[in-house]
Amino acid sequence: MPERIAREWNALVEKTSTETRNIVHTIVHTYEDELKQRYRAYLEGDPDLLSLIGEDANLAAFTARFMEWVQQLVNREATSGEIFFSQQDSLGETMARIGFPPHAVSRSIRKIKLWFLRHLSETDVSRQQLVDAMAFIIGLFDIALEIREASYQKGVASNARVNEAYRLHLLGQNLAMERERQRAALMEWGHGLLASFYQSASSAGLPRLWKSELGLWLNHKAHILFEREPKLELIKTLVTRIDNELVPALERVSFNDRSQISDAARKIEEELSAIKFLLSGIFEAHIEVESGRDPLTQLLTRRFMPSVLMREIQLQKMSVAGGFCVLLLDIDHFKRINDTHGHKVGDQALRSVAVAITETVRQTDFVFRYGGEEMLIVLVECDEGMGLQVAEKIRAEISSLSVPLADGGRLAVTASIGVAAFQVELDYERILARADKAVYAAKESGRNRVRLASAS
Ligand code: GH3
Ligand code: MG
Ligand code: MG
Repeated sequence: MPERIAREWNALVEKTSTETRNIVHTIVHTYEDELKQRYRAYLEGDPDLLSLIGEDANLAAFTARFMEWVQQLVNREATSGEIFFSQQDSLGETMARIGFPPHAVSRSIRKIKLWFLRHLSETDVSRQQLVDAMAFIIGLFDIALEIREASYQKGVASNARVNEAYRLHLLGQNLAMERERQRAALMEWGHGLLASFYQSASSAGLPRLWKSELGLWLNHKAHILFEREPKLELIKTLVTRIDNELVPALERVSFNDRSQISDAARKIEEELSAIKFLLSGIFEAHIEVESGRDPLTQLLTRRFMPSVLMREIQLQKMSVAGGFCVLLLDIDHFKRINDTHGHKVGDQALRSVAVAITETVRQTDFVFRYGGEEMLIVLVECDEGMGLQVAEKIRAEISSLSVPLADGGRLAVTASIGVAAFQVELDYERILARADKAVYAAKESGRNRVRLASAS
């Protein structure tokens, strides 16, 4: 890409006369303030950009950077293709790092082209000069945009890789061990606290939980391991309560008052148990996620679905596999099951359906929990006819399930299934969309049935 783009850039510069360059340069020079104001107004007019850029000072800096960029592009002295490329490339990567949306860049470029056109039409130039200048401007900005988009993608991918690598590094790839370490740290702190209380002459200056190994871990590592985990905040509140209320209360009790001591110690013990419980819950859930399994149904989580489907499509393109089918399954009237029998029964029904599917398909097929009560099944090496057969078998298995109810009764469950056989899609979203339509058709025609997706 760099060589091709650099060549195109050099060709553009060569074919543009100095006179044309001067016309374009003069427009920027003459209307500099106007362009600056317009760009700033553009940033301020888009709430997403505004919240991204934030502060006033940043807005000014962003606008200044934009002006510099435009001036660089329309410079009277042409830059070489290589330098031009590396300038745009690093800009693109920066944009990716700060999360500046690429569509916002395209939009500003569309606007700036119109801005040039307006000023050109007001300038005293010949028709030919106007066409040449416009061709130059379009070339300039579009080539710059093309480089930026490629670099942006590269930047986004490498940011994702870096984050994931850092997370894995912190994980040490063993969450189970980390869980034991933190549980032990918590217990150790509890023992240490009581030991210090009995050993020291005065009970003031007892250790604090925030300063313990667990406290440090909570502050520095936990949020990276478990991003957006609400239970972490709860744990932090408990730790603060222990440090600011319960330990000071223990510091105040008299050595001779046994009942006060055990009372204060019991309260701390209770909070420590609560922390231990929350901590286990967090680790438990994430150990499941790490293994790629949904905790409730033990099916694969949706997050691995794109890789599986992309791989299957790749295999089809290489003609090394004989087709594949996607089955989208949606449990019928599931909301009613929840409403009538409660969430617990709903959960049990989900588990039973998951088992019924897993036991019907082959080991080499993939079963994902796609959404709440929707499952997605990828049948590998499977043509349309076989896909329909398997779907029908799954449907029958599910309709013969009977989930036990608390009152001794049994609950019947049914599901509707859409079957989409691989056609020639490059984009797996298309095959999903077809399967989705087929489920809808199955629901429309009365539920508890299988429908084949139309070709496209
Ligand atoms: P339809 O036959 O048209 O599919 O009707 P429906 O009621 O199944 O459709 P809808 O999608 O409206 O309802 C899905 C319900 O599934 C809503 C949601 O509360 C419930 N649900 C989603 N995830 C879970 C879960 O993990 N456990 C339980 N018990 N219920 C869940
Ligand atoms: Mg649904
Ligand atoms: Mg449903």
